[in-house]
Amino acid sequence: MKAEELNQLKSFLSVPRRIVITTHKGPDGDAMGSSLGLANYLQTKGHIVSVITPNDYPIFLKWMKGNDDVIEYCYHEEKAKRITAKAELIFCLDFNTLSRIDTYAPVVESSKAPKVLIDHHQQPDIFDYNFSDTTACSTAQLIFEFLELLGDDHLITQDIAECLYAGIMTDTGNFKFNSVTSKTHQIVSTLIEKGVRNDWVYDKIHDNNSVSRLKLLGYCLNEKLEVLPEFNAAYICLTEEELKRFNFQKGDTEGVVNYALSIKGVRVAAFFVQKDGIIKISFRSKGDISVNQLSRDHFGGGGHINAAGGASSDMDTAVQTFKKVISNYIN
Ligand code: 5GP
Ligand code: MN
Repeated sequence: MKAEELNQLKSFLSVPRRIVITTHKGPDGDAMGSSLGLANYLQTKGHIVSVITPNDYPIFLKWMKGNDDVIEYCYHEEKAKRITAKAELIFCLDFNTLSRIDTYAPVVESSKAPKVLIDHHQQPDIFDYNFSDTTACSTAQLIFEFLELLGDDHLITQDIAECLYAGIMTDTGNFKFNSVTSKTHQIVSTLIEKGVRNDWVYDKIHDNNSVSRLKLLGYCLNEKLEVLPEFNAAYICLTEEELKRFNFQKGDTEGVVNYALSIKGVRVAAFFVQKDGIIKISFRSKGDISVNQLSRDHFGGGGHINAAGGASSDMDTAVQTFKKVISNYIN
């Protein structure tokens, strides 16, 4: 963030403001951790803060402080519109372009409030204030750095620290991705000093499975995994009917794609799932294979070099397209 932008923001935030924080559709650990981490900080500074998500998110993320006040736009449109219309500042976290907040986008767009982007996705759009770092492991790390820039890192409480820790942990695959740097570990070290119960956060997020979720995973691995050795690729697809059979709950398929990527020799993996009549796709890759590019080129999506998402209207078309174009991205 440019010094001039930062100073403007600092002085804008020096008196209590009405602030909205929003994040991408299908919020994940980083989306919720960075949103609620920032919200809790801004509240301690005396601002009136609302976190508005486009839609619902998994139950294993619903333990963070402030969670009960989160407004899901899809269920509370009128309330969200009223609050957004009164906002004096809107933080846009963990997404690079307004279409990522789905049907809430026109509401944000029509607000006159300046918009602050804090994000780590590739190819960010330009907002009124921009704090984008595409090399950062997570938006939660950028929130920490933002609080440092504001000179307010001493105000990080245990609650804020646990939100940010959850964001960093989930977006780094539990600290294993290449995006993790010594700076990440230094930040995590500071967060633990602020009181993060790291084993407790891990337990809340990862050891919270229902039996049917594990059985769905077993089904995916046993019966739905397809390997394309000639392309060092693997994929899994699931229909809405199959989800129903395993009593699908939001978040149940998160992480399934990583099992396909964990096969020896596999360098690109895809997970296709039919939800609400469309095919949502998760891509993961290793090294310099850009699934961001693959998804932008063929599935109207994007994300990061090694983790991206997209969509398609039809399962067969999506899988056939993936098989047809994959060779263009694996060299
Ligand atoms: P996931 O596969 O976990 O849903 O998403 C992986 C990454 O890609 C996340 O950073 C997510 O924000 C991004 N992503 C997921 N779906 C889409 C999409 O439809 N469009 C874009 N631009 N990014 C996506
Ligand atoms: Mn993220």
